[in-house]
Order: sequence, then structure tokens, then C-alpha cells
Amino acid sequence: MWRLFSEYGRGHWPQFVAGIGGTVFSRLSGLVPPLVLGIAIDAIFLHRRPFRLPLLPAAWTPTTPDGQLWLSIVVVLASFLVGAAFSWLDGWGWNAFAQGVQHRLRVDTYDRMQLLDMTFFDDKQTGELMSILNNDVNQLETFLSDGLSSALRIAVLIVGIGGVLFTLNPSLAVVALVPVPLLALFTYVFVRTIQPKYAKMRASVGALNARLENNLGGIRVIKSETAEPYESGRIEEASRDYYDANWDAITTRITFFPGLSLLTGVGYAITFAIGGFWLLSGAPGPLSGTLDPGVFVTFIVLSQQFIWPMAQFGQIINMYQRAEASSDRVYTLMSERGTLDGSADAPDLTVTDGVVEYDGVSFGYADETVVSHVDLRVGRGDTLALVGPTGAGKSTVLKLLLRMYDVDEGAIRIDGTDLRDVNLRSLRRAIGYVSQEPFLFYGTVKENIAYGTFDATDEELVEAAKAAEAHEFITNLPEGYETKVGERGVKLSGGQRQRLSIARTILKDPDILVLDEATSHVDTETEALIQRSLAHLVREKTTFAIAHRLSTVKDADEIVVLDEGRAVERGTHDELLALDGLYANLWRVQAGEIESLPPEFIERAIRRRAEVDAGDLPADGSE
Ligand code: ADP
Repeated sequence: MWRLFSEYGRGHWPQFVAGIGGTVFSRLSGLVPPLVLGIAIDAIFLHRRPFRLPLLPAAWTPTTPDGQLWLSIVVVLASFLVGAAFSWLDGWGWNAFAQGVQHRLRVDTYDRMQLLDMTFFDDKQTGELMSILNNDVNQLETFLSDGLSSALRIAVLIVGIGGVLFTLNPSLAVVALVPVPLLALFTYVFVRTIQPKYAKMRASVGALNARLENNLGGIRVIKSETAEPYESGRIEEASRDYYDANWDAITTRITFFPGLSLLTGVGYAITFAIGGFWLLSGAPGPLSGTLDPGVFVTFIVLSQQFIWPMAQFGQIINMYQRAEASSDRVYTLMSERGTLDGSADAPDLTVTDGVVEYDGVSFGYADETVVSHVDLRVGRGDTLALVGPTGAGKSTVLKLLLRMYDVDEGAIRIDGTDLRDVNLRSLRRAIGYVSQEPFLFYGTVKENIAYGTFDATDEELVEAAKAAEAHEFITNLPEGYETKVGERGVKLSGGQRQRLSIARTILKDPDILVLDEATSHVDTETEALIQRSLAHLVREKTTFAIAHRLSTVKDADEIVVLDEGRAVERGTHDELLALDGLYANLWRVQAGEIESLPPEFIERAIRRRAEVDAGDLPADGSE
């Protein structure tokens, strides 16, 4: 928390100081009216002592009772005006401070996170990261605005009221302040008791919502299976859980204010009793000194001012604890170091001949080796296709080229330079990646094509779209290139999205291309279009392609068959068919010649399928 404060609070110290000043002076001005009331009673109405307001020069004090009363009224009014002004400053200062810190912290956390490598994202759930960037950062903001100002308010009140009361009458002050720690304890215990109940309530409302959503979505199935009574029962059960949890919280919650009133009421009564008897028949018991009626009134009114701020005491402690946990998570994320050295200082990659070479590359995500001793070599204008069963390691081989991960053994070189010796940015700029599930950002078609090549002109953009066979369908969209993708109404088909992402890559004009099953989820006609657009793209480039449909890579200059991370066969399509091995079998599957497959092949396929279905899938969903 301290770190947060010193690193992020520093830039916002004027707001912080304004918040502190606002809180202190608005609270202190609240002490003026009861004090003036007491003095007016004793001096103007009961004539027990001369009229003197603290801090006000004697020369300014009127001599007539009328004048004194008017002065008192003016001072009270002024204290409210000043109080209102400082109260505004209090709100402005703390909120401006907290919002400023929140904004910087969120942006910084995002920036750091974005730079981490894929190993980090593989291990983390999106929800978990979202929660840090959103909830935790907001939690800190809440503490910095509400928590800190409430804590300061309590401190000022205790010191301020305590100071006034002790100056007026020390022994009665002790009596009047006794309930304060009890109030603090009470609200703290209350918050500790109710928090878990609220958590349970939130969980049960979540479960209920999930159930309702599921049932509305699956209403057809419910009807066709005549499962209405069954579902009514399940909803009844979920709603009952929510009811119970909520009721449990409610029964605790409704005891809070009565409990608080009771405690303060007892304190009030004790102060009233002791003060009252003191006035009536002199200092009671061990107490000594004099008490005037006006001072007594000041006591009674001021001690009531504790109640509301103290009611927040438990909440503040709770806020602090949550903020502490949040800042812990935020800083853990901030201090996360990637396993890859980003090598920002390393020289840029310069691609000359465009020769990519895998030299004895081995790699595993964890202990298990996923790619073992793979050698590949592709030159400019050539296409190397990677084929093989699911889970063979095809995507992994290409992720290594993008340096999403570093190789465990061997090396990957571009024109003789090891990937690890150039800076990551320049490496990734040199490679165009068309994945099987192209991701479009929320925005226009144009923005999506220009993503990564932000300075492209409109002409270049249209050229790229034309080359990707996408121009035609784009101009048919309601607003052409300005159409928002993903917005309701305009849904692009898989093939269209694919072509947009190809256009994006054409625009980027990289030296090296990675096509990851670029045509896996589209119909034959679309595939033909995509193939045509890809044909534009691969000219003059060093291309790696993965495809399940072997027909799409049939014409590749070299086909490498991977099996369990090893390159088991390599050659052209015809050579591999002649070899009559794994490739030939895969080819038969796709040609529909299932009968002629060897039984071992089918057995292995079944086994592999089972492994994949058992959840042995890459975490990024690339399969
Ligand atoms: P292919 O592309 O040939 O289907 P992959 O390269 O995606 O194969 O996967 C090869 C193996 O590595 C599979 O066993 C898969 O479960 C595993 N794998 C893939 N990605 C990850 C990951 N991010 N973390 C751990 N294991 C992974």
C-alpha cells in the first residue's frame, strides 16, 4: 500500500493536500455551532460568565446582549458556509486524487501485462486478469477516496471534539468519550460478521442467474423433453438458496443500526445523568470542578456527532484489508517477468534472402517434449507445408518462429541470424501470421485491415483488400469500409473474416508468412476464393503453411509430416504418396478411402482423438 502511495500518489499531491485540508476544516467548522450555542446559553441567557468567543479579538466583541446574540448567529452561519465550501473541497480533492491514481495504475498494469510472453497468458484465465485490471484497481480507488477520507474524518473528529471537551471539562469529557472505542469495536465485529454472508449471497445470486440464463437459452430442449416440472424444481431450489443466504444477511444487517443506537443511547444517558446531577447538586462522586448549563449542552450535542463517522469504522478497516489484498495482486502482476528476454536493445532483424532455417529444434511447454529435433529450411518464394495428425506439434513449430516461446534445444535462424539475437519487435514485424480463427477487433472493416499498419493510405488499403478478394464483399456491406464489424446486424462469415485477415497481412507486406490452417472452417467455394487471395500473398515470400485439408498444400514445394513432434516424412506430394506412409494414409482419409487404411492407423487416430477430447488441448484454443 505504501508503495502504491509513494509511486502513484506522488504525482497527485495537490489533490491529496486539498482533500486533507477539506476534510480537516469542514469537520472543524462543524464544531463551532455547538460551542457557540453553549457560550450563548451561559453568557447571554444565564449571565454566568462574560461573553467571549475563542479566537475572536476582545475588541470585536459587542457589549449588548442583542449584539452578542447577533454575532453568535453570524458566526454560526459563517461556520456552515465555510463548512460547505471545505466539504466540497474534501469531495473534490479525494476523488481527484483517487481517480488520478486509478487511471495511471490501470494503464501501467495493462502496459506491463501486454508485454509478457505467451507462457504467462497460457497459465492465466482471462477472467482472473480482467479482475485485476478492473476490480482490484477499482478497489484501490475506493479505498483512496472513501476509505482514507473517512479515516481522516474520524481522526479529526476524535481529536477535535476530544480537544474541545477536555478544555471545557476534563472529567465529563472522559465520561462522554467512553462509548467511542465501544462503537469502533461494535462496527468492526459487525462488518466481519456480515461480509461472509454477503459473499454467500453473491454466489447464490450468480448461481441463480446462470440457471435462469441456461434455461431461457435451452427453452426448446426443455419443451421438447417436457422437462418443465424438473426445471421448475431446479429454479425453486436455486431461488431458495438465494432466499436463505439473503435472509441470513438481512437478519444481521437489521441489527446494526439498533445496536449502534443502543450503544450511543447508553453513552448519551450516562453523560446526561452525570452532567444533569452535576448541575443540580454539584460534582458527583470523584469528579470535581464546576459545570455550566451551556457547557453541558455543548457536551451533549458534540458527543452525538461521533455516531455517524464511527458507524463507518468497521467499513474502513474492511476497505483497507481489501485494498491491501488488491494492491498485492496488482503488484504481483506488475513484477511478473516474462521468460523471454524481449531484447529491446538487440539489433533489428534485416531480412535479405528470406531463408528460414530450423536447426535441430526441440521444445516442450512443460516437461513433455512437444517438438523434437526438427530441421527445416525454406527460401524466399517457397512454401513449406506442415501436416500431421492433431497434436503432432504443427502449431507449436510455428509459434517458435514467432518467438511466442523460446526453443529448448537447437536454433531457428533467419538469413543465418539466430532469432534470439534480434529484437522481438522487428522479428514479429517481419512475419505475417494468418491464423485459423482470425480475430477481428471491435471497429470498422477499415480499422481491422489497417491494424498493425496504422499509417496505410486508403489506396493501399483498397489494393490489399482487392488482392485478398475481399474488396467486393466489403463494398456490398451497408457502409462499405466504414462498416462496423461484430456490431449487431453485420455479421461477417468465417470466410469473410479470413479474407479480412489476409488483407491485413497483405498490407503489412511481411517477408515471412505463417498460414495456420488458413482454410479450415470454410466451404469449398470460399476456400477457392481464399486460395486465390493467398496465391497473391505467397509470391516472393517465405511461407509456412499448416493445413488439415491436404488438398490445400498439395502444391507446396516441400511437405513435412510431423508425428508426435518428429518430422517423420518429407518431400513433395507425389514423393510422399509413393512412400505410402503416414502422409499417404492421411491422404486416403481425405479422399474418403477409409477401407484401404491400415488398422493400426485407425487405432492410433482413435487414441489420439480420446487424448484431445480429454482436454489435452492448447490453452490458446488454436486447435
Ligand atoms: P497441432 O498444431 O499439430 O495440432 P500443437 O502444436 O497445437 O499441435 O500441440 C502439440 C502438443 O502440445 C499437444 O499435445 C498440445 O496439447 C500441446 N500444447 C499445445 N499448446 C500448449 C500450451 N500452450 N501449453 C501446454 N501444452 C500445449
